[in-house]
Amino acid sequence: MSRERLYLFDTTLRDGAQTNGVDFTLADKLAIACMLDELGVDYVEAGYPGANPIDTSLFAERRPLRAKITAFGMTRRPGRSASNDPGLAALLAAEADAVCFVAKSWDYHVRVALETSAEENLASIRDSVCAAKAKGREVLLDCEHFFDGYKANPPYALACARAAYDAGARWVVLCDTNGGTLPHEVEKIVGEVCRQIPGDRVGIHAHNDTEQAVANSFAAVRAGARQIQGTLNGLGERCGNANLVSIIPTLKLKGEYAERFEIGVSDAALGQIARVSRALDDLLNRAANRHAPYVGESAFATKAGIHASAIMKEPATYEHIAPERVGNKRKLLVSDQSGRSNLIAELERIGLAVDRDDPRLSRLLDAVKEREALGYAYESADASFELLARRLLGKVPRYFDVEKFDVNVEQRINAKGERVTVSMAVVKVKVGGEALISAAEGNGPVNALDLALRKDLGKYQSYIAGLELTDYRVRILNAGTEAVTRVLIESADEDGDHWTTVGVSANIIDASFQALMDSIVYKLVKSGAPA
Ligand SMILES: [Zn+2]
Repeated sequence: MSRERLYLFDTTLRDGAQTNGVDFTLADKLAIACMLDELGVDYVEAGYPGANPIDTSLFAERRPLRAKITAFGMTRRPGRSASNDPGLAALLAAEADAVCFVAKSWDYHVRVALETSAEENLASIRDSVCAAKAKGREVLLDCEHFFDGYKANPPYALACARAAYDAGARWVVLCDTNGGTLPHEVEKIVGEVCRQIPGDRVGIHAHNDTEQAVANSFAAVRAGARQIQGTLNGLGERCGNANLVSIIPTLKLKGEYAERFEIGVSDAALGQIARVSRALDDLLNRAANRHAPYVGESAFATKAGIHASAIMKEPATYEHIAPERVGNKRKLLVSDQSGRSNLIAELERIGLAVDRDDPRLSRLLDAVKEREALGYAYESADASFELLARRLLGKVPRYFDVEKFDVNVEQRINAKGERVTVSMAVVKVKVGGEALISAAEGNGPVNALDLALRKDLGKYQSYIAGLELTDYRVRILNAGTEAVTRVLIESADEDGDHWTTVGVSANIIDASFQALMDSIVYKLVKSGAPA
């Protein structure tokens, strides 16, 4: 049986760019567009030509992608002709495969916000669609506030959708702009729309204000819609847009959808989706959501011992899909609650096979328990756990020694009369027989220490050149009688691998130093640096 084609429309670069604190540069936008193209989405909505210099230069030239580059903008203004509207002209001049217009479909908004008549709004939709079609563009119409508009005045909301469809728009997209519509309402309303307009011309654009943007997208598909709009990692203003990183694996891996629909994302591309999700967070310089469905670090993590032994025997017992399908991996958390089988399984996964009766196993379990009582968190710090295990099993070379370090924080008035705080670190390291001293300034003491530590490791320098710190988290804990600081550091390298290390101390610099050291040593082990 042939499957029906379902289309994916990504708006990370347009609606996603509305997110608080997100500012894409042109280079960011081009990098994300390429990533989306490789993933296999059908449309990349890249921005608003004419609205700002970045979007204008993005649309100034053809971008050779398989996906259709889409320009977004408003329909012609009320009371003007299509040929006499500078906004529309800029949109039509954009080097884009498709144009997505946004228009009001709630009569209340037409009256109050647009201050025009219901009929003039329909005429504006028709004229704009025709003008873009005449320029040879594929046309989409985003019906803003469609669901609220439909609840208030069904015939008018439908008339807006029909106006676009009748004028030749390829897609009429129903937007839940305020994000408050619930799945059963979406299913009912989209079903009614699809009796007027064929479902293979209808799209859904859901926002996540009740945390159901993904569910709403699927509700629309069940009711007949054949285009889903969303963003990477659900990026978007307020609570975000529908998350394509959750939608794509569901479409590919869940029978109900996989058997009925075909999408442009290949199995191989699906295997890259965890990396894509990660790459977006890296680019935005924010920590990845560990609990993200499918792609989060914890999405396939198991803690309890009995589950762990079952997982090793038969993964399907506790996993809804095989993690490798989405480029993720199974993780057995090692913590003071874990049993032997958990530990053995995790050691096996990292390539340290030990016999069940090996006495070192009990020593390792005891060490984990002892250190977790002090505040270490090995289930969050996979790399520190691996080093602890390797050390106990006698497999970590002593690459270098830090003989001493000195970190200095100074606040003073500079030459311009401004109060500034400057941090400086000096580190003395011994590599082989060689003593090396490095100094660095940083925007804080930990940053200075990190820079000094990684400045010169002699013969090991080339192994750590691609090492980068991607996240730094601090928590004050009450372990035992006094407060201690736990530092978790996330690092990444040139292979795109990520790992987390931990340090604990009453002193934040010391805790940071432990975590930094673990990260560097882990990288040396990982890179196979010679002892
Ligand atoms: Zn939106």
